[in-house]
Amino acid sequence: MTNKYMYFVANWKMFGDLGTLNTLNKVITFVNKIKKNKFKLIYCPPSTLIYPLAKMLKKTSIEIGAQNCHESENNGAHTGQLNAMMLKDVGAKYVILGHSENRQSGENDRLINLKIRSAIKSGLKVIFCIGETLSEKRKKITKKILAQQISKGLNKIKNRKGILIAYEPVWAIGSGLIPEQSELIDTIDYIKGKVKGFKVLYGGSVNPKNINNLKNINSIDGFLIGGASQVPNNFIDIIKKTYN
Ligand code: PEP
Repeated sequence: MTNKYMYFVANWKMFGDLGTLNTLNKVITFVNKIKKNKFKLIYCPPSTLIYPLAKMLKKTSIEIGAQNCHESENNGAHTGQLNAMMLKDVGAKYVILGHSENRQSGENDRLINLKIRSAIKSGLKVIFCIGETLSEKRKKITKKILAQQISKGLNKIKNRKGILIAYEPVWAIGSGLIPEQSELIDTIDYIKGKVKGFKVLYGGSVNPKNINNLKNINSIDGFLIGGASQVPNNFIDIIKKTYN
């Protein structure tokens, strides 16, 4: 059980349409019943849903994040892209950057660094994802990889106040696997040693069953949740169990 202020970030990835938003009424009712500001809920839907969701969540404490943004804060000839300003304009307060699915599609640390800078300049908070692949884990170079991702991703960024780190082992995302508790404690401590004062979330297959193993790790400041966040009952269950 924890009494700590925690972040619960829902990453919907490329799922969801206007009809899906109705399913969130359950979550809104649940959050509205909680008097004290015990936690922060952040929904990161596909960009097409940011504006309607912002309207829907206007009178709630739930905030919205985008799932990526272009590295330029200026408008320009970048077909198919959205910059942080545009996302902020329609209601986003956060943006997920450095997600492994985007790293796997070619985003490198340098590009992620430019995106983080642009997002901060535009007034968005950043959920900065880092994590090792299975082969890096097997080679026992997790810490080296995380150190690189952190130092390159945050290179020359002085204004770090609005940045949350999400530690997401790539092999844990969508696999049903989570790290051993001792391993996770050690890794989160390592990250916190590198970036002093940062909040660090854990992401990768968090679900209502394994939350009991994760919630007792004091150094974890919240969770980034993919699959389970798309089912309102599961998402609510994860939050409830974290505090029970
Ligand atoms: C994610 O994609 O950020 C994630 C954590 O996904 P899942 O919870 O489905 O593993």
